[in-house]
Amino acid sequence: MYRKKKMITLTIDSKQVTVPEGTTILEAARKIDIDIPTLCFLKEINEVGDCRMCLVEIEGVKGYKASCVYPVEEGLVVRTNTKDLIDTKRTILELLLSSHQKNCLTCVRSTNCRLQDLCRRFEIPDLEYEGQMPEADMDDSSECIVRNTAKCILCRRCVNVCKKVQGVSAIGNVNRGFNSKIGVALGMGMKDSTCVGCGQCVIHCPVGALVEKSNVGKLREALADKTKHVIIQTAPAVRATIGEEFGMPVGTLVTGKMVAALRRLGFDKIFDTDLGADMTIMEEATEFIERLNKGKNLPMITSCSSGWITFAEKFYPDLLNHLSSTKSPMEILGTLIKTYYAKKEGIDPKDIYSVALMPCSAKKAEIIRDELKLEGGIQAVDNVVTTREMARMLKEANIDLASLDDEEYDDPLGEATGAGHIFGTTGGVMEAALRSVSYILDGTEIKNVEFKQVRGTKGIKEAKINIAGKEHKIAVSQGLANASKILDEIREGKSPYSFVEIMTCPGGCINGGGQPIVDEYKASKIDVKALRAKALYKADKKAKHRKAHENQSVKKIYEDFIGKPNGKEAHRLLHTHYNKQEVYVEK
Ligand code: SF4
Ligand code: SF4
Ligand code: SF4
Repeated sequence: MYRKKKMITLTIDSKQVTVPEGTTILEAARKIDIDIPTLCFLKEINEVGDCRMCLVEIEGVKGYKASCVYPVEEGLVVRTNTKDLIDTKRTILELLLSSHQKNCLTCVRSTNCRLQDLCRRFEIPDLEYEGQMPEADMDDSSECIVRNTAKCILCRRCVNVCKKVQGVSAIGNVNRGFNSKIGVALGMGMKDSTCVGCGQCVIHCPVGALVEKSNVGKLREALADKTKHVIIQTAPAVRATIGEEFGMPVGTLVTGKMVAALRRLGFDKIFDTDLGADMTIMEEATEFIERLNKGKNLPMITSCSSGWITFAEKFYPDLLNHLSSTKSPMEILGTLIKTYYAKKEGIDPKDIYSVALMPCSAKKAEIIRDELKLEGGIQAVDNVVTTREMARMLKEANIDLASLDDEEYDDPLGEATGAGHIFGTTGGVMEAALRSVSYILDGTEIKNVEFKQVRGTKGIKEAKINIAGKEHKIAVSQGLANASKILDEIREGKSPYSFVEIMTCPGGCINGGGQPIVDEYKASKIDVKALRAKALYKADKKAKHRKAHENQSVKKIYEDFIGKPNGKEAHRLLHTHYNKQEVYVEK
């Protein structure tokens, strides 16, 4: 039976606060805007009290207590800022720094690093002593992320995100004592591990010990090469987040400013991945109807999230036939750039350098997949840069995105519908597909295009839909640990669903591993995922067309070049296949 929680009143730094029982002192303090410093704390993921930065003094209680794990009690009197506490925290920071590779001037996390922030806040003086540095281990074997143990503070946030949110457990503690470090079992590199490249560990690492693998140097060279026609496409979710890197509030939609900024940087054409998303819907919805008719390989599962594809290939190879064979929006647009656009403009595809601005680190591995190579063995997309990397490039070129006036995407691959825009948030692919399924089936246009049941941040969302007079159950999941629950059911033959959307990252691409990193304290005050999603729903509402099949450029591409969705040419250019990946999984 539901029991209303008892309310508890306590005093923190002379201020009273009343919170439900079970709340920790840290959370109670945050309620009254007292920012007790933390390094290892991540709500519901890493509540271990290891780093000791959140220590507080409690009247009548012996010794300092870690506030992130200490529950409130009636009448407690807590101090967070006595001189002794501050001195203790200064010592903790000095000890951390004594074995830390302190190259802030060249570190990509500088100005957005929790350790650096705290050192500034606690006025850590010049360090007189250098501690013994543990043996540094730089692992850049993965296409997606780089791990540098010399900057690791052993907070274990990455380990628990990977295990609890993604259900992957690619990394963990290796060695003991002074040589303890975060790494892959058996001394393997990330490339050979179960890692899916999602970058969730990167956005939750408080320092620069985990970063995305950068290909920015290659992009600079391409932009300077006059023989290259350099094209960039921008993913749905980036327009809702890149403004944050230029001081704009979380959830600011900056589509036009982003296009203007990219034009200043020197791209020859700026196209919209959202057109690729609209085409994904045309293909995927048609494929879904075909599978329903044949009653085969159901439930069908979406295939646009690259971390999820790797996860399926590594953990659920027996279920690969359930995945839609439709390429991701990025790969569809890349393919159109090097085939349709190249032909139309009379450019040799080999002279095109195709770049994708993505919210995701896993996309860096997707572009080199053999299965996605085009005629002549060329890649459809030559380089992926993340939102964070692009923001750094723009700043380096003195381009202040926030101050620019809106500009439009280029033709002929710049037109997108609201359905394409919402691909960037959890539930968006499903909602976009549902807007077009009945039209593709029998030409029926649905009136209400908003499917609220599949929106929001719940781990697994379910809905019932009616297709051709028959009711179907569908599901939307975010975070791979949630996906596993659905996949296990399918494996056991117990799945009630016809169609499933799986997004690798919690919240979908708006919270991808390449997105702006929001400090944990700030993230506890605002709902970052909901605000970013709201920006995409705003873009959808503002769009001239809100269903993928209404995209006029997409119609023209089918008429002039591809033929019909799921036809022979569509299969040659817009579909792919998947293969089992052998990995060592520690039992
Ligand atoms: S991780 Fe932080 S403290 Fe360490 S070098 Fe980078 S910015 Fe500086
Ligand atoms: S990238 Fe994703 S799968 Fe790989 S270690 Fe990080 S959280 Fe785990
Ligand atoms: S890599 Fe980052 S998140 Fe992982 S333990 Fe080290 S500092 Fe913490």
